[in-house]
Amino acid sequence: MPPRALGSAIVIVAAASIAVVAVQRGAPSRPDEQAPAAPVTSALRMGALPEVASALAPAPPSDVPAAAIPAEAPSAPARCPPEPAIVVRASEPPPAAELFRLAKETPEALGSASVGSPTRGSLFGGVELQDSEGILRAGGYGWGTELVIRSIERAVREVRRCFPDSPRLYVGDIARERGGWLKPHRSHQSGLDADIGYYYKSQATWYQRATAQNLDAARTWALVRALIEGGHVEMIFIDVSVQRLLQAYVATLPEGERPPEDVFPSPTKRDTIIRHAWGHATHFHVRFRDLAAVALGQRLADILPRLRGARRAPR
Ligand SMILES: [Zn+2]
Repeated sequence: MPPRALGSAIVIVAAASIAVVAVQRGAPSRPDEQAPAAPVTSALRMGALPEVASALAPAPPSDVPAAAIPAEAPSAPARCPPEPAIVVRASEPPPAAELFRLAKETPEALGSASVGSPTRGSLFGGVELQDSEGILRAGGYGWGTELVIRSIERAVREVRRCFPDSPRLYVGDIARERGGWLKPHRSHQSGLDADIGYYYKSQATWYQRATAQNLDAARTWALVRALIEGGHVEMIFIDVSVQRLLQAYVATLPEGERPPEDVFPSPTKRDTIIRHAWGHATHFHVRFRDLAAVALGQRLADILPRLRGARRAPR
């Protein structure tokens, strides 16, 4: 069992629907309204989540009996339940001298740190996304903060549980092991950005353009929704042409299952979670929010250059 992280502990919480509340209240959706390094997630701040002790980021078993899963979720009368939320419980990092010692001797005890900014930053204590039955890595670099990696895994788990026989999802670049410049991206430097493929109706390749003919809108929407409801997403960049396909699908859902109005951009509201950006008809880009990793990154920013100079040889 990994040592308990001092910087942050990632906990799977049983109350699965709470993150939805946070999203619907718009809590995590505005980058310019971010609380500075809040020690807990917005859902926890609302006092809604029971704290459930658990190992660091275990993958909860998807043990929903097969008989309970509707064959075609889009037309199912009741919504397929969301995956348990991932909650970060941050603790105060130790004083600088102690922090230096920990970062040098037992970095795994500190957890992940996102240093600097996504366009000029680095990553400490990152976790690498692995290929799995639901995920196929397509990018050269798949390192992110632990919360980012667990959030992607959680969303894919939800899609696969709600839609049996889902194909594997391509995941492109996230970040280098230590972050920094990653060609050809401008961001992807601090472990908070991930390029993720769409789901297609038929066999597909990474970077395939999504169209009305090939996009699996039901699965793709389930994936995007699971990411948003996870509560750790700041923005999702999707080409407007694909947004239209998703919106057309969402309009077919029962009223209670449609997202809040401000998830997709409109002529009067552009600072929404989902936004248009050119080049995102072949994949979408998620900018995650990991306040604990950013807070630790701020504390480590001055220490890391010394530390990396002090490290003698790679492990
Ligand atoms: Zn990207």
